[in-house]
Amino acid sequence: PDNSTITRIKKLSPLLINQLAAGEVVTRPAAVVKELLENAIDAGATHIEVRITQGGMGMIEVVDNGLGIHPDDMVMAITRHATSKVADIATLQGINTLGFRGEALSAVAAVSRLTLTSSHDDSGVGRQLHVAGILADTPKLTPVVHNRGTTVTVKDLYFNVPARRGNLKSIGTEFAHIETIVREVALARADVTLSLFHDNKKRLLLSASLAETDTNNNNSRLPLSRLEQALGIALTSNAIPITIDLSSLLQSGAQSIEASARISGWLWTSQQSQSQTTLPKLLYVNGRLVKEVLISNQLRQLAASAQLDGIGYALYFDLPTQWLNVNVHPTKQRIRISPLNNIMAHLGHAIGLKLKSIIIPKIATPVV
Ligand code: ADP
Ligand code: MG
Repeated sequence: PDNSTITRIKKLSPLLINQLAAGEVVTRPAAVVKELLENAIDAGATHIEVRITQGGMGMIEVVDNGLGIHPDDMVMAITRHATSKVADIATLQGINTLGFRGEALSAVAAVSRLTLTSSHDDSGVGRQLHVAGILADTPKLTPVVHNRGTTVTVKDLYFNVPARRGNLKSIGTEFAHIETIVREVALARADVTLSLFHDNKKRLLLSASLAETDTNNNNSRLPLSRLEQALGIALTSNAIPITIDLSSLLQSGAQSIEASARISGWLWTSQQSQSQTTLPKLLYVNGRLVKEVLISNQLRQLAASAQLDGIGYALYFDLPTQWLNVNVHPTKQRIRISPLNNIMAHLGHAIGLKLKSIIIPKIATPVV
């Protein structure tokens, strides 16, 4: 055999490693927005502003009033596998932050011109750091005027990955994806004020609203006003409040004293097939929007056996972190819930009862 044709093994450069990671995390502008919003929420922000130009292909900027980043940690923040959220692998069991892999900022920085500006105190002064593709050997931190909180500015996404840039859809399509992400985050956190601008025009302003308190059992749930604001559809009429206590599933013992387990939220039903598409279908687990096919199938079946054509829901699962494994998928949309069968049994029972108790007048099909 001719040895000259054998390709020798080379180690990938740090830039290429980050760009490959970006392929999984930074699939489109909206994915950048999602990561930046999650970081802002993890930092405890109560006000978040999202500024977009050209559907996110020009600029994505997220400004938050969270805890900020210590000047000495600015470089670490955009270093791959660096996070303030997970100290060791054992902690992965009980994650209560949205992020934990420490790869979002480094991945975004690898495929854009990123500016990170942050202040962690009330001095009014922050630090600013630029990265385009790869971090300089001696990155320069510039002092700038900045309130406590963080601003991440992402320009020219995929400027150095032509194949990716070519895959992007129209400005309108990319912005629509961004808007969806902002709405989803708004529904996870009614206590956060969120605004969204596109090419300097205000597109969304969702003011923080207090959780509604259910006087019967002292539980609070997402206010319907926030749901209507965030989804832009009327949902107040026919909204069925749901509260399901799962505390019987908690093991008695010292570790679970503070843990709570419950489901709260809203349910909508319809018998007109055309209105089905507008009904929300949202499952949030500890503030994270998740796809849990088993539960959504179960809800669909419950509706079908109650002779309903459509069912909508915004259900918030508040579960002990020990029950969850969020380290299943890079985008963290899929998670594993450990006593899922028990939870589904409670859910099925409670929702089955609710559906039985409501009688919806059959709408006669008009004869033409
Ligand atoms: P992860 O969120 O998984 O930790 P990221 O790459 O998204 O990884 O962020 C890296 C680190 O940078 C975070 O752990 C956090 O310490 C810091 N950071 C990022 N964004 C913000 C922000 N908006 N406010 C405060 N700290 C931030
Ligand atoms: Mg993150």
